[in-house]
Amino acid sequence: MAPLVSTQVTHGLKWLIDQLDTRAGILDESSVRSLLNQANLTAQEIAPYIEPQPASYARRCVVRRENYELLVLTWLPSQGSVAHDHSGSLCGLKVFQGSLTEQLFEQGPDGQVRKTTATRLGVTELTVDPGVIIHSLGNDPAAPQTLVTVHIYSPPLPEVRRYAVAENPPPKLFLRQPPPSARTIAIIGGGFTGTMTLANLLRFGNQTELPLHIILIDRQPAFGEGIAYRTNDPRHLLNVPTGRMSAWPDRPDDFLAFIRSKDPSANPGDFQPRKTYGQYVRRTLLDLAESASDRLSVEILRDEATRLTQSTSGWTIQTAAGRTIQSDLAVLTVGHRPPDDPFGKRWIGPRIRYVADPWAALVISQIAPDEPVLLLGSGLTAVDAILTLGRSDRTAPLTVVSRRGLMPLPHTRHPKPPADLSQLAKRLLDPSTPLTIRTLVRTLREQIADATQAGTDWRQVVDGLRPFVAQLWDRLNIAERSRFLTHVRPFWEIHRHRMAPDVANTIDRLRRENKLQVAAGALISATADTTGIDVTLSTRGAPATKTVRVSWVINCTGPGVQNRHSTHPILRPLLEAGTLCDDELSLGLRTDPAGRALNAANNPLPTLLVAGTLRKSTLWESTAVPELRQQAQTIAQTALTTLQNTPHANTKSI
Ligand SMILES: Cc1cc2nc3c(=O)[nH]c(=O)nc-3n(C[C@H](O)[C@H](O)[C@H](O)COP(=O)(O)OP(=O)(O)OC[C@H]3O[C@@H](n4cnc5c(N)ncnc54)[C@H](O)[C@@H]3O)c2cc1C
Repeated sequence: MAPLVSTQVTHGLKWLIDQLDTRAGILDESSVRSLLNQANLTAQEIAPYIEPQPASYARRCVVRRENYELLVLTWLPSQGSVAHDHSGSLCGLKVFQGSLTEQLFEQGPDGQVRKTTATRLGVTELTVDPGVIIHSLGNDPAAPQTLVTVHIYSPPLPEVRRYAVAENPPPKLFLRQPPPSARTIAIIGGGFTGTMTLANLLRFGNQTELPLHIILIDRQPAFGEGIAYRTNDPRHLLNVPTGRMSAWPDRPDDFLAFIRSKDPSANPGDFQPRKTYGQYVRRTLLDLAESASDRLSVEILRDEATRLTQSTSGWTIQTAAGRTIQSDLAVLTVGHRPPDDPFGKRWIGPRIRYVADPWAALVISQIAPDEPVLLLGSGLTAVDAILTLGRSDRTAPLTVVSRRGLMPLPHTRHPKPPADLSQLAKRLLDPSTPLTIRTLVRTLREQIADATQAGTDWRQVVDGLRPFVAQLWDRLNIAERSRFLTHVRPFWEIHRHRMAPDVANTIDRLRRENKLQVAAGALISATADTTGIDVTLSTRGAPATKTVRVSWVINCTGPGVQNRHSTHPILRPLLEAGTLCDDELSLGLRTDPAGRALNAANNPLPTLLVAGTLRKSTLWESTAVPELRQQAQTIAQTALTTLQNTPHANTKSI
């Protein structure tokens, strides 16, 4: 290892990078502090990375290695970051120009954070966090100049894990000790479905005499967001209009009312930023928390449930932080699986320029406009990445490759109500005639052609079919379901999961400007070095394979489809033991209509309830709010009825 103390006075950026490169593995606090202290960085060296942007502070990557990354951040007056942590990465930062305000936060029992101390750092001052603090950084609104900071993260920062900030003390619900007679419900997964299950338990639990303690467990810091709503990018819009996004099945205008409380001119057909939806879900729960009865108590646990086992009195949950929770009833709302790896052994070389999980990929915002990018997959996940990358100053191409090269279709600006397809559904659901995918597709095409002639939009037909999808899915045998997945699914998805009109306009513009190219094709291999990747592709219609050189590859293939692999490790032992059972296509868990998990003998487990994407095996459409809000309500009501009707066994949480 090179000596830390140098006799030379001037060191500079190259010296800093050389020093960092000599260190293998994760950097330690004292080396980072010492190197940042000694690096005598000059204005000439840092200038190319200073990038004042009016929309938000800018992150420019200087170097990125497997064990660390070096960045320059530019903050105009009043620009700042959200409250966040570093997902366990060590972070060293030094002020190069201006003055930095660092605000520290502390997490409360309601999962939200509150301000503690604030400090200011002037030019050349530095701070190192070994990966434990929650903070926000910023440049004061009255600051006379742009703030520039130099950051080292080790390992590279996967994402800015955002926290929800509160001004008021936590509601009593979160501070109350549960009485010994309380029944315990553990909800594993605090995205939309888990949070709304909790909200429904409070709403309907208020109306019962049952003393209840509910523990909501999520490894992410801000409950209510899950994968879909944790984006901080205002260009990432909901793909369902405001008027259809209420979190309650029986209060259809609730989200619209929330939006109108901030903007009275908002319309039901508007498409709001997804981050606003996360705030709405949290607000919905916190409002209920304020009015919850004394018999109810709640704990929000930021932790990962690593093991779930059946016990005599219910379920035992073990967590990554070492807690053991005994619950009378457990709810599985673990949501989407991370994307599968489309490369496996076909990728040779370092993966530092491969973005495996675009929802947790801060690095996308660091990709420079002159760096060519290959996106694998052309669905809504790719659309998100394109919106982030498609800045007005982009000069290098964005290339999208998917099996069929199909992108989601747009919503209309004024969405119309779903068509009434009850007669058609009656025919298709007639048990005396077998149902095949071929019949379904043909019938739907005819219906759309007739509707178009009568002046009805195809979207109304697709939306009209949605209430019947679960029953139609139930009628398909495994061979037909498999046929759907292989041949029809990509077409169904682009019609069913649509883009907001403004998003579609941006995509069209980028295609017209040749900044975005979309191709149908397959991936052959990738060979990477530290500066880029040679990707070999076979594209439809081309006589031979071709190899393109790109700076980054982003995996936009979307959530993994199959269940029976390591991405939901909590399920595997239960599936292997036959306590739970998946379907032949491994799309999810078998459940009864109320959401009770079925075991291998096809018997329902009354105290293990399932909601969300894991129910795709039985319902197919089980991913979006209109379905999930109903499931959250049904699950909560089933849970309350079950506990009211079963004898109490002493429970405890350690
Ligand atoms: C990018 C994207 C955009 C979308 N946009 C829309 C939209 O505009 N409108 C719409 O209706 N639907 C949209 N959807 C569909 C979306 O699936 C649902 O709206 C909803 O957010 C799903 O929530 P969920 O709680 O079921 O799952 P998730 O959002 O996946 O949440 C599951 C949570 O469980 C946690 N978890 C998992 N395992 C564990 C464990 N072992 N221990 C602790 N915690 C665990 C995860 O950290 C996560 O927070 C979108 C989906 C995606 C992926």
